[in-house]
Amino acid sequence: MYEYSFSECGLCRKSISYGDKYGVLVFNIESTEKTPKYPDGVTTVNSSEEVHTMCLECAKKYDSESVKSLID
Ligand SMILES: [Zn+2]
Repeated sequence: MYEYSFSECGLCRKSISYGDKYGVLVFNIESTEKTPKYPDGVTTVNSSEEVHTMCLECAKKYDSESVKSLID
């Protein structure tokens, strides 16, 4: 049997299928260095972990500002 969904929404539990748009909150550990080539700094992502995956309908309820209020 072919699997059409690879994940599910963390809020409404709707399955997320291949080809669907979806939203992901990611927790990155990063470091930024200044180099002659990048005087404004270049950022390296040391690790990246998916914290939360949402279907597009749920993701549209949030923007970067409202997500900040979830963390407060
Ligand atoms: Zn959802």
